[in-house]
Amino acid sequence: MELNAKIPPGPLKDKWNFYKDHAKLVNPANRKKMEVIVVGTGLAGSAAAASLGEMGYMVKSFCFQDSARRAHSVAAQGGVNAAKNYKNDGDSVYRMFYDTIKGGDFRSREANVYRLAECSAQLIDQAVAQGVPFGREYGGYLNNRSFGGVQVSRTFYARGQTGQQLLLGAYQALMRQVSAKTVTLYTRHEMLDLVLVDGKARGIIVRNLDTGEIERHSAHTVILATGGFGKIYYLSTLAMGCNASAIWRAHKKGAFMACPSWTQVHPTSLPQSGDYQSKLTLMSESLRNDGRIWVPLNREEKRNPNDIPENERDYYLERRYPAFGNLAPRDISSRAAKERIDAGFGVGPQRNAVYLDFSKAIKEQGKEKIREKYGNLFDMYRKITATDAYAEPMMISPAAHFSMGGLWVDYELMTTIPGLFALGEANFADHGANRLGANSLLQACVDGYFVAPYTVSNYLSGEIHSEKLETDTQEFVDAEVQVRAHLGRLLAIGGTKTADHYHKILGKLLYDHCGLSRSKKGLLYAIEEIKKLREDFYEHLKVPGTEDEMNGELEKAGRISDYLEVAELMCQDALTREESCGAHFREEYQTAEGEALRNDEQFCFVSAWQWQGENKEEQLVPEPLYFEQVELTVRSYK
Ligand SMILES: Cc1cc2nc3c(=O)[nH]c(=O)nc-3n(C[C@H](O)[C@H](O)[C@H](O)COP(=O)(O)OP(=O)(O)OC[C@H]3O[C@@H](n4cnc5c(N)ncnc54)[C@H](O)[C@@H]3O)c2cc1C
Repeated sequence: MELNAKIPPGPLKDKWNFYKDHAKLVNPANRKKMEVIVVGTGLAGSAAAASLGEMGYMVKSFCFQDSARRAHSVAAQGGVNAAKNYKNDGDSVYRMFYDTIKGGDFRSREANVYRLAECSAQLIDQAVAQGVPFGREYGGYLNNRSFGGVQVSRTFYARGQTGQQLLLGAYQALMRQVSAKTVTLYTRHEMLDLVLVDGKARGIIVRNLDTGEIERHSAHTVILATGGFGKIYYLSTLAMGCNASAIWRAHKKGAFMACPSWTQVHPTSLPQSGDYQSKLTLMSESLRNDGRIWVPLNREEKRNPNDIPENERDYYLERRYPAFGNLAPRDISSRAAKERIDAGFGVGPQRNAVYLDFSKAIKEQGKEKIREKYGNLFDMYRKITATDAYAEPMMISPAAHFSMGGLWVDYELMTTIPGLFALGEANFADHGANRLGANSLLQACVDGYFVAPYTVSNYLSGEIHSEKLETDTQEFVDAEVQVRAHLGRLLAIGGTKTADHYHKILGKLLYDHCGLSRSKKGLLYAIEEIKKLREDFYEHLKVPGTEDEMNGELEKAGRISDYLEVAELMCQDALTREESCGAHFREEYQTAEGEALRNDEQFCFVSAWQWQGENKEEQLVPEPLYFEQVELTVRSYK
């Protein structure tokens, strides 16, 4: 099969307008006869459901949380990017496009990225109209700051709660449609399978997590906006419930997965403090605007950080990347931290952290100014660590954070299954091999508010003659039987080990061998270990309780069973990409200075993977990337 990204013709800057001008429409009278399933109520899902509901489609919106506004977007702290150039510091749509392409190490599609930058200003206007309380300057203008990998200020923020405030805006829009009866909400419902009819996505099987009841839902199209799967690493900045199940089960029904091993490891998480920890807390990247990162020059250093003189400190990012310094992109900053920690310079009780120091900023700007910018982050740090970061440096460490990989989608955000769309972090589309900070909230919102309304309508215009589908057809029956069989299998094992036990082992395996750096030897080893772990899982897992009740352990077991398959594909993906690019750092492919060594001749493509059946190796289908606007260069932040 050849992949067609369906990029519109014409010059880059006209492509999205060309698409909008030519996309097919659905008559308002027909819209109310058409049903749309949206799985996920994060920014991507809420924005899509609210927008499509407002257009008059009948939307069913699903999430596993008890409220739509608890979707994981709520956790995002630092900000959302837009090329508004309010600071007059030389920003433009093209510059944002270029920064994003370069940040992703030239492994994303030009047309998608340009659209992201083009729609960014519109998103800020939309959010302001919804009442999102962005930080403002004294004169009333929206304020912005810098995030890693750029030299302009284009990150709009609402203190350290940007995701929460944006999500409240999207949630209001969603609830307006709920009261208008164009959207029906199904909270505490988990999608367990996708239903295809005549090769098209026409429904889902879900489990009501409160009652255990299995339900069938049909529609004319299905949108997955189910977020990222970085939680596969167990210790990550994501919440415990984040999972890959919806996209993975769609994958097994024919949707290709793209570059699943491209995981962003964030440089500014709080370090792991002990074996019983299940989640790492993120300290926003915005802190790197004013915080300076360093480790002691002496491996045996025992002094309090404030007592270590300047000439005995190694500000390694400023030393290695003088042009970007502490704002080097995430992949580079995380790797540099790992390099220092592995070399024995790590600080803290576990020697697994580096310092993030605000003393210079406080001296220059005053404590009040720093409190104004980051007060809630400093408070959070104090609550967790009992340390006053105004008085001594924070300790930070890299942690798994974001999935650049996900379901393969074309320019319309449609997967390889007709009628199945993937939005937000669930797709692979815009970030290449490394996402720039604050581009993800943007992508989720742009996908949901601005792209899906056009592209989903374009698809539905061809479906106006499809009747509402009953759910007693063979396709729904078969899918439900499959779901019940899997749940039954998990419950019947009757072993002694918990789902968490497997998750922890899997997470460590992945972090060690398919995390910040990868090698052929390590990846081959991990693949074998994952296979063994999967076998052990199906022999020794213990899931108490039954299927017909609220059963948190059963939910977890289902998600881990999927992670055990996703993990193998991640390693396969990393193994076959014999180059280093962005977050994918293969130890065999690096420069003399330890920087990523790309191989554009052989690997300038998106790796899309096609499921071949249980225990069969997946097939790689490359989608070549063409660069017409930008020259492929060695990414340098020096
Ligand atoms: C701690 C943290 C801080 C971040 N800070 C920033 C930032 O400052 N700026 C930025 O740009 N990005 C940030 N990010 C990334 C950004 O928050 C996410 O990429 C983005 O919010 C994802 O939005 P989404 O709508 O795709 O998915 P999510 O918000 O994760 O929503 C997923 C939805 O899918 C539902 N779901 C999942 N699986 C199923 C299933 N099987 N059945 C039913 N429902 C399901 C969930 O219930 C949820 O409603 C941060 C991420 C983290 C973890």
